[in-house]
Amino acid sequence: MSRSQLTDAELERYSRQIGPGVLAAEGQLRLSQATVLVTRAGGMGGPAALLLTMAGVGRVIIAHGGTLISPDLNRQVLGSEDALGKLRAPEFAAHLRSMNHFVEIEALDHEPDAAEALQLARRCDVILSCPPTFDERLRLNRAAVAARVPLIDAAQWGMGGTLCVFRPGQTACLQCLYPQTPPFEEHFPVVGAISSAIGSLAALEAIKVLSGTGQVLWGKMLNYDGYRGSMSMIQLSRRADCQCCAGA
Ligand SMILES: [Zn+2]
Repeated sequence: MSRSQLTDAELERYSRQIGPGVLAAEGQLRLSQATVLVTRAGGMGGPAALLLTMAGVGRVIIAHGGTLISPDLNRQVLGSEDALGKLRAPEFAAHLRSMNHFVEIEALDHEPDAAEALQLARRCDVILSCPPTFDERLRLNRAAVAARVPLIDAAQWGMGGTLCVFRPGQTACLQCLYPQTPPFEEHFPVVGAISSAIGSLAALEAIKVLSGTGQVLWGKMLNYDGYRGSMSMIQLSRRADCQCCAGA
C-alpha cells in the first residue's frame, strides 16, 4: 500500500536530510513509497543498500549468492567476521534491518537470471547494478530497458571505479557502451575504500532519481581514478544499432 504521509518518528529520523539543499518533505515521502533493487550487495552494493536503507527508501531488495569468505571482508561492509562461512544474503539483510525498522528489506540468496531480473525490474523504481561480471551487468541492463526502469551501473577495479546512470528510451544504455561482452577477470584487485566511494555515489544518484532532487547524471559516466587522483565525466551517446535499446 502506498504511503500518503510520513510519521513523526520518520520525520525525526530523516530530519538532517530534509531542508534547503537536500530533500524536500515531498521528496522524502517519495523515497518511502519507492522500491529499489541492489544486486549484488558486496563491496559497492553493500554500502549502497545500507545508505538507501538509512535514507528511508520504502523497500530495498538485495540479491547476492554464496557464503561469506575472508577475502570479502576488505570491502563487503554488510559482512562481519562472525558471518564467515554463512550465506551472505540473510546476513546482509539482517544488518540492513538493524539500521532502519521503517524500511522493508527483501533478500534473494542468488543472482537473478534473465526472467527473474525482468520480474524484479517491473517491481522497482530504480535498479542499482553492482555485480563484478559483465554478463550480470548486461543482463540487468536488458531487464531495465525492457521494464523502462532507470539503471545505475557501478563498477570498480583496483583503486578506481565508474558510475553510469541510464534512463531507458532517453539515454544510452550499458550495452551501447559495451556492444560485445568484455572478458571478465575473476580475481581482479580492489580496495574497499573505492568500492564504498562508488557505491555511495550510486546510492546518492538513486536518492536523487527517487526523490526528484538535484541534477541526476543521466546518460553520463563518472570515472574516478583514485590511483592517479583524477576524475572525469563523459556524456554517453546512444548507438543506433544497439542490440538492447535501439527502438526502445
Ligand atoms: Zn543501448
